[in-house]
Amino acid sequence: MKIATPARTRAILNQYQLRAKKKLGQNFLISERVTSAIVRAIDLQPDDVVVEIGPGIGSLTEELLQKAGQVVAIELDRELIPVLQDLFRDYSNLKLVNQDVLKVNLDQLVQEQTGATRYKLAANLPYYITTPILMHLLENRYRISEMALMVQKEVAERICAQPGGKEYGAITVAVQYYCQARIFVQVPATSFIPTPEVESAVIHLKKHNQPPVDPGDEKIFFRVVKAAFAQRRKTLLNTLSKAGFNLTREEWLQLLESCQIEPGRRGETLSLEEFARISRELSVNPA
Ligand code: SAM
Repeated sequence: MKIATPARTRAILNQYQLRAKKKLGQNFLISERVTSAIVRAIDLQPDDVVVEIGPGIGSLTEELLQKAGQVVAIELDRELIPVLQDLFRDYSNLKLVNQDVLKVNLDQLVQEQTGATRYKLAANLPYYITTPILMHLLENRYRISEMALMVQKEVAERICAQPGGKEYGAITVAVQYYCQARIFVQVPATSFIPTPEVESAVIHLKKHNQPPVDPGDEKIFFRVVKAAFAQRRKTLLNTLSKAGFNLTREEWLQLLESCQIEPGRRGETLSLEEFARISRELSVNPA
């Protein structure tokens, strides 16, 4: 019986006398439908190398081991390492690493463990650090080609949002700058033990070969995005002119006009291209 079933999951927790640790975001998947959807999202092939963040007691890992060439699984909870070693003793394609994913250089780790320079990634993320993990994976420009991530449903909606709605925010722009993002499947809370208080969704992120817009200076681009969403109810002109860019209100008015962006608009209505236009303009005349 697969690990991703209620009966087997309960049996493993009993056998090894384990309890899900809330502070590590441990909610174990008990749905084969969901583990196979995750694998399908990234189109896992026998010659693929895949990294898993937080294998837990192995429900997704089992599926990955059966479909991919090699699996590198990074788990912070030391107590789970011997359990995983025991459960997967018959598999020769698993590399288990007892580390905090936020502290590893993923490219280096994967290269050391498998020799691969490009890889896929799958995870049922610990929700207490969803954003730090996501930004760690993206900002370091790791050589991940695509990923399937289980996240809280609201987070999935924010990441995959379009301009104009209330879900659209700094995280939308940040993720979509690096990846093409879509919600792959919704996942009910009953698919986990223990049952979380929130609904979930699997998102599929396909890395762009090149960012879809040219921001000039990337640091400036992300400063503008952060500032534009800092006070969502204010107009762009008001938030930007108070965001410490060293430009007067009058200068901002001119800059927005030269970008053909109406200064009375709110940050949440701007497309990536419009943010990039502002950033390019600022990159030419640094504030
Ligand atoms: N993959 C398993 C599943 O689907 O049943 C478990 C998923 S559970 C939501 C999240 C897992 O991430 C837990 O096993 C937890 O111990 C691990 N974890 C939490 N923080 C971590 C970190 N900073 N680095 C690596 N793993 C972490």
